[in-house]
Amino acid sequence: MSMQAWVIGNWKQNPATSNDVSVLLDELLSKMGTQKQTGTTTSNSQCKLMVAPSCIHLSAVSERLASSTILSAAQDISTYSANVGAYTGDCSAQQVADAGATWTILGHSERRQYHKESHDCLLNKLSHAFSENLGVVFCIGETQTQYNEHQTLDIIDAQLSVIKDLLVQQPHLISLLSEKLIIAYEPVWAIGTGKVPTVEEVSKTHQYIKQAIAGFASNVDNITVLYGGSVNASNAGSFAADPMIDGALVGGASLKAESFLAIANAFDQANA
Ligand code: PEP
Repeated sequence: MSMQAWVIGNWKQNPATSNDVSVLLDELLSKMGTQKQTGTTTSNSQCKLMVAPSCIHLSAVSERLASSTILSAAQDISTYSANVGAYTGDCSAQQVADAGATWTILGHSERRQYHKESHDCLLNKLSHAFSENLGVVFCIGETQTQYNEHQTLDIIDAQLSVIKDLLVQQPHLISLLSEKLIIAYEPVWAIGTGKVPTVEEVSKTHQYIKQAIAGFASNVDNITVLYGGSVNASNAGSFAADPMIDGALVGGASLKAESFLAIANAFDQANA
């Protein structure tokens, strides 16, 4: 594959304690150091790594990773304000950036499901993220029922219309998109289930997403599109081999340094 690959760990509401966070970071950093020394990764590593810890751990993780090549991201930001305000329980784009995040995940299916995140809610979040100079990993994908009823591409169009509408409101953002926006295609039925679509299905859907974005942002001819949903050390290589799949958003397998780095290595090797 031709593009810069990304492997992003979404830690969700894990791990349980700040001590567990330290242990995971120790393992990640020491294994990365060992791989470098022993040459088990390609020297010209193409794969960018990012982790998205819980908000409560974001400062500590960012501080710890500041001297590494791993970036840190928030899992979400407030829809109500980009900076401060009377929004109990929320963390703003400005606050997560101040805590050291350079990116945020937005629109994850768990947010859409449990927090009923709507088109307008996500439109605000995207706008706030870009106003604070955060990159956005924007998650889209169909449910099992929608998949069964062959509605995948319609759902993707509806979910991508948030980006389309943002660009109508703020056309100057178009020039930022290829650097500041990553799409994560995550079929809801593949998240945490061990079920995965075929590489061919993912490839076709990614091609559709890239074309759809180029359709409303004409100078963005190749947006980064990651696959997410039950990616693990064993299946990562097959996804990495497809030129339409620019990396992975990883949930469960990102909580162990070994599996997370094995997935990263699969994308490194596909790029080598
Ligand atoms: C996710 O929630 O973004 C995800 C891909 O989870 P998992 O890898 O556990 O399926």
